[in-house]
Amino acid sequence: MRDIIFATKNKDKIKEIKAVLGDKYNILSMEDAGVSDDIEENGTTFEENALIKAKFVMKKTGKLVLADDSGLEIDYFDKKPGVYSARFMGKDTPYSEKNRQILQKMEGVPEEKRSARFVCAIACAMPEGGSFTVRETIEGIIGYEIKGENGFGYDPIFFVPELNKTTAELTMEEKNKISHRGKALVLMREQLEKI
Ligand code: IMP
Repeated sequence: MRDIIFATKNKDKIKEIKAVLGDKYNILSMEDAGVSDDIEENGTTFEENALIKAKFVMKKTGKLVLADDSGLEIDYFDKKPGVYSARFMGKDTPYSEKNRQILQKMEGVPEEKRSARFVCAIACAMPEGGSFTVRETIEGIIGYEIKGENGFGYDPIFFVPELNKTTAELTMEEKNKISHRGKALVLMREQLEKI
């Protein structure tokens, strides 16, 4: 089985990645690969940030590396916070507060203007040279209230009309099937099979 390093320190992401790619590849975290650097994500697109991380770790390890970058685009805020989703309103501000403030700023905004999406780009950097990215999204609206206990980040305000639920009301398995990251991982698996 070929080793693949996924350039993340997030254990939940590693779990999700193993579920999609683990039968074909030996998935290693950055920790498993002995890389502890804090990589500066100074790109202006999800793809750029994912490529920065993947290439950095590939150069350090000489192995095939995947890295992702994700975030929330709110159309009413001109697609912000986008690549700045983690840093929006301050990195250390709790999401309960960020979500409360977003709902407050959107008070009275009608449903047709509340469209939003989670975006995930995954980059692949290959030791033999070359790199590529895939992107997926999940479309929804910014809800009217904070709802649901699962997930993380902006999940409690991200409402999926077809399910009549926020992504924080889905189990991890339900969310992974339809989420930006889950779908991007499946797309990446298809691309890796062609290498
Ligand atoms: P990163 O790609 O792990 O750096 O995530 C960027 C940020 O985007 C997270 O810190 C969250 O604020 C937001 N985000 C990305 N994916 C999700 C999701 O599935 N649910 C909620 N928030 C998300």
